[in-house]
Amino acid sequence: MDDCLFCKIAEGKIPSTKVYEDEMVFAFRDINPQAPVHILLIPKKHISGWSAVTGESDALLAHLMRTAAVIAEREGLQEDGYRIVSNCGKNACQSVMHLHLHILGGELMSGKMA
Ligand code: AMP
Ligand code: ZN
Repeated sequence: MDDCLFCKIAEGKIPSTKVYEDEMVFAFRDINPQAPVHILLIPKKHISGWSAVTGESDALLAHLMRTAAVIAEREGLQEDGYRIVSNCGKNACQSVMHLHLHILGGELMSGKMA
C-alpha cells in the first residue's frame, strides 16, 4: 500500500535490519527496542490492524504466528522465554497502521502486560 511505512520496509524501499523473510511475511529489528531482542514481524500484505482482519487471511495469520515462534527460537529466546505483543487501535497505542507482532525477549519482563 502506498504511504505505509511497513509496506515500504517489506518492499525494501526503506532500510531495515531484516531478520527473516519468506513469501508471506517479513521481520526486522525495532528501531526503538524495548528489550534486548525486539523484532517486528509483519505480513507482506497490507492489513491495517486486527480490526481489519477477515477470514480470507486465516492461513496468513496462522503462518505469521508460527513464524514468530520460529524467529524466537532462532534468536535463542526459547529456553528463557519471550513475549509476543500486538497493539490494535487507539487505546493500545498502535502507531503504525500495518498489522505487526512485537517479539520481545532477552531479559525478565514485568509480570504486567505493559
Ligand atoms: P506499535 O506502537 O505497536 O504500532 O509499534 C510500532 C513500532 O514500530 C514501534 O515499536 C516503533 O519503534 C517501530 N518503528 C517505527 N518506525 C520504524 C522503522 N523505520 N524501523 C523499525 N521499527 C520502526
Ligand atoms: Zn502496509
